[in-house]
Amino acid sequence: MCQSKIIDFFHQKQGIFLFLIIFMICFSGTYKLSGQMANESYKIRKIVIDAGHGGRDPGTSGKKVKEKDVALAIALKLGKYIEENLEDVEVIYTRKTDVLIDLYKRGDIANKAHADLFISIHANSFPNPRISGTETYVMGLHTNDENFEVAKTENAVITFEEDYTTKYEGFDPNSTESYIIFSLLQNSSLEQSLDFAGLVQNQFKNRVNRIDRGVRQAGFIVLWKTTMPSVLIETGYLSNTREEVFLASETGQDYIASAIFRAFRDYKINIESKSNFSHMITEPSILFKVQISSSRKQLDLNSNLFKNYTQVQEFQVGKLYKYAVGSTDSYEEIVRLQSEVRKDIKGAFVIAIKDNEIIPLSEALNEINK
Ligand SMILES: [Zn+2]
Repeated sequence: MCQSKIIDFFHQKQGIFLFLIIFMICFSGTYKLSGQMANESYKIRKIVIDAGHGGRDPGTSGKKVKEKDVALAIALKLGKYIEENLEDVEVIYTRKTDVLIDLYKRGDIANKAHADLFISIHANSFPNPRISGTETYVMGLHTNDENFEVAKTENAVITFEEDYTTKYEGFDPNSTESYIIFSLLQNSSLEQSLDFAGLVQNQFKNRVNRIDRGVRQAGFIVLWKTTMPSVLIETGYLSNTREEVFLASETGQDYIASAIFRAFRDYKINIESKSNFSHMITEPSILFKVQISSSRKQLDLNSNLFKNYTQVQEFQVGKLYKYAVGSTDSYEEIVRLQSEVRKDIKGAFVIAIKDNEIIPLSEALNEINK
């Protein structure tokens, strides 16, 4: 009974929107929680290197080379530099050969591995062949048409995938409306993503003599669901003859890979030297969530009951198992989520968590208003 109600609901547009909001709020909370666990001495241990495109998706092309090949060559070189020089870091590749990996799987690989950083490597193109240079993107809503075009082109690869409308919750890479969701994105690892992106662009400009087209923001599906700092690097324009020759050459690929390597090494040093400190003090002491269910029996988080929600969290309070979604230190934000969730589950309500325990809401509100 309850199940069919949920399924009906999910067929409505509203359901998709709700799902997205919950996803985003969960998303911002998850990183905080993992940060909390890592506060002792946070180390960068795993990096996922994602060579864009592959297989039947060539990406963009120059006169001679295809983006998928350039991206793979740089990704493999970058991985090798890290493996050879930073022994404490594990490198995970989304692909090491010429195969097509679905966009959502790329982020999934990073999430499942609990990676500390996700780097997606690409090459660009533009109708005007005079344009050249590098750009490093972080996730967000584009602020200009140029960035939007890059995101649209990169996202269009999902149309090579089977059943993409279902997999990406109706996301249409060419519709402006689809991108509005990115304006709601609350990515608490944005700051680290921006730090790393800045280091990459600096290296490109100062050490490899590339034209610096800056750190930018746009809605890339491949970065959408990663739960760690993530960037997408456009290593140059294959539509520019000189840049194509550079990117197609072994030397050019080496330069680009070593620049990204140095940026990564610096980022690692920065993060690890200030980790104790920053993770301790930026941690909110109270988090709000929306409780959606409670039960005497432990429920399966993958059950149909929770199918509208990603990242349902379980708490045990006495003999009861409680299930909640969302995670934010803003009361206003959680009340908004509560009203969205109530369209689906009428009895949903806000709870407050302190030191991993549920505390009375009034106590939490008193404390945050202090
Ligand atoms: Zn690409």
